[in-house]
Parts: sequence; C-alpha cells; structure tokens
Amino acid sequence: MRESRKPSGTILRWLLLSVALTVMSPARAGQAEQRWWKGNLHTHTFWSDGDDFPEMVAQWYKEHSYHFLALSDHNRLSQGRRWMAVTDKQQAAFEAYLARFGACWVETRKNEEGQTMVRLKPLSECRCLFEEPGRFLLIQAEEITEKAHLNGINLLELIPPQGGQTIPEILQNNVNAVLAQQEKTGQPMLVHINHPNFQWALTAEDMVGVKGARFFEVYNAHGYVNNEGDSLRAGTERMWDIILAKRLAEAQAEIMYAVATDDAHNYHKFEPRAANPGQAWIVVRADRLTPESIIHAMNAGDFYCSTGVELKDVAFQDDTLTVQVALVPGVTYTIRFIGTRRGFDPAGREVTDTEGKAVRTTCVYSPQIGAVLAESQGTTARYTLKGNELYVRAKVISSRRNEKSHVPDEYESAWVQPIVVK
Ligand SMILES: [Zn+2]
Ligand SMILES: [Zn+2]
Repeated sequence: MRESRKPSGTILRWLLLSVALTVMSPARAGQAEQRWWKGNLHTHTFWSDGDDFPEMVAQWYKEHSYHFLALSDHNRLSQGRRWMAVTDKQQAAFEAYLARFGACWVETRKNEEGQTMVRLKPLSECRCLFEEPGRFLLIQAEEITEKAHLNGINLLELIPPQGGQTIPEILQNNVNAVLAQQEKTGQPMLVHINHPNFQWALTAEDMVGVKGARFFEVYNAHGYVNNEGDSLRAGTERMWDIILAKRLAEAQAEIMYAVATDDAHNYHKFEPRAANPGQAWIVVRADRLTPESIIHAMNAGDFYCSTGVELKDVAFQDDTLTVQVALVPGVTYTIRFIGTRRGFDPAGREVTDTEGKAVRTTCVYSPQIGAVLAESQGTTARYTLKGNELYVRAKVISSRRNEKSHVPDEYESAWVQPIVVK
C-alpha cells in the first residue's frame, strides 16, 4: 500500500507545484497596473546646443522625480565618438561634471594646443548610470531641425532633415521619414511638431493637412517661442482647436494630440526667459515604463500636459468626461471644457497688418471653433456629451501664477487630450 501511495503523493506534489507555478507564471509576471509616468520629450545637451553634459541633464530630471526623458539634440543622435573642447564658456560645467562623476568616469585628453578635450558620452554609455526598471527611462530622440522643427522619439537611426518646397511639404517629408523608420525597423516611434510660433514659422493651416502628424507642442517652455501668440498671430492653443475642428469635420479624420515640453537648453542659470528644465511636461498613463508602453498610451491619447497642475484622474465613461485635480492646499482651480460643435463656420479670414498687408499667420476663424462648452471651479468637473460636438477637451487653470514663465498673466495649467465624438 505504501508503495502504491507514493505515486499519488508525487502527483499531489506535482499538482501543488503546478498551482504555485500558475500563480507565479510568466503570464502573471507580465501583468502590470496602469499608473502615471512623468516625462519630458524635448531636451538638449552638449551634443548640440544645450549647455551641459548628458549625464548632468539626466541626473537633473531623475532627481526631480521624472520617470522618463528623451534627449533630442538638433540633427544628431548621441551616438559614436565625439570630443568637445573645454573653452572658458564650458569650464564651470566641466568642473561640476568632473566633481559629480569623478575622474574614473570623465574622459579627457589634451589637443595639440594643450586645450582640455572631454569625450561626450553616447546615450548607450549613459544609460547604466540612471536607468532603473519602473523608476527612470532614457529614450533616444532627435530634433529634426530645418525651417520647421520636429522631434522623432525612440529613433534607431539618425534622420537628416528631409527638406521640401513649402512648410507643409517639409513637415510631411519629415513625418514620413519617422514613420518609414518605424515601419522598416518595427520599433514603435513617435513624431511631434515643435513650437509652431518659434520665429512664427508654422500656421495651423500648415499643420492641418500633414498626414500622420498626430502630436504637436501646445506648450514649449523655451523663452522665445511665443506659445501665447500676439496681437496679430494666434497662440498655439488656438491653433490646436483650429486643427481639430478642420480635421474632425472630415471623414477619415486624424486626431491631433498636444504635448508640453521643456525644450531645455540652459541648466545653470534659472530665469524666466531661459530654456530651463522642469517647466513643462507630460504625464502618461501606461502599464510599464518602456518606450513601447509610453508611445502606445500616447497614441491612445492617455496622457496630459502640465506646467504645474497635477491630475488625480481623467476618465471618459458613459459619454462623460471627468477630470479630477490633485489639490495643492491654498490653490484653486478652474476646469474648462472646450470643443467645437458640428456645423461650425469653417471660413477663415487672412490677417493683415496696420498697413493692410497680409501677414503669414494662422487665419482668424469663428469663435465657434474652440468654444468654452462648460466651466466650473473646484477639483472635480464632469462634462456629458450633448452629441453635437466634434470633440471635447479639458483645460485646468490654477490660481497660481506660473513663476517660471515670462508671460505675465500665465497660470499653472494642465491640458487634457480631446475626446473625439463619434
Ligand atoms: Zn526647435
Ligand atoms: Zn529644441
């Protein structure tokens, strides 16, 4: 009897073991809770015209509770061998770098003139210092820079500026180049159009017809990009509504989501006009801190932009968009639902200056585009679709002035992505 029990005991142990294995199986280990990840997609370093080393930049963001950072230098990936001369201008940055990372890490040599040269570390070498699963991620990116600027995120290969006869053509050619690399490599990538009002380069009309352009910077924290527009020219948020209204009025329409970025260049002197880190970011709801997961969530519009307002939750259920703000004591919030209804007047009028000359800028449109559909005070607000809207988005404006901005009447805000009404 004892002998005959042995096999059944073995079977029992086997069963228990399989139950245990099922509980800890790779399928379960592969599951993850969705959570919010804070990141910046637009950053410069010494690899182009930023004023610090990539390690110092990555350290700044990691120490300031960011989860992901894309280094996006102009027409360059941080790859390969590159030496930089340490001139008087970089001396202080070099000393701080050496003090922080030590002589074992920092590589220097003298050139023929006896000048100190320092090797700029490629992203592949920097990763080991900062990356931690579920805590901090570095993403390879490039700011494709010509008459228009676009960020290619999670690129594998450098994309040279693609050129074109007109601004829409330049935009289209560069978007196509990112999408082609994504197709060729099978690696998820993302492209966003940058700072439309930098040197008043882009209009809403330039962007509206660009196929595959699904992201643009509604807020860029560089001090000279004119997010807010001026007396003749539309601000970037106005452009967003014009693009959304015009696109979504068509069948087969493509969405336009907005990002907010630092476009950081200046890491030493913090002042309102400087392109400092920590001014504008996105917060993405994804199950994992990987480029694939972040890009997947962004493509689904599951993220928001911020210049200081933190959201507790954004939900769209039963035709109702609910926005919940994470309260900071002493601060009040205005929550605004903005949208364009079907049947809006699509006519645009060209802008002319005081002498009657046409200005190359976004046309003036009816206030039916980007109308305020509802507004309330507090930390939670809901908007239930009436059904006649093309899209609805939300903006939260806090009572706290944005001290990091040089724009006098700017308040810390958050922008929630549009819900397209079917
Ligand atoms: Zn730029
Ligand atoms: Zn830039």
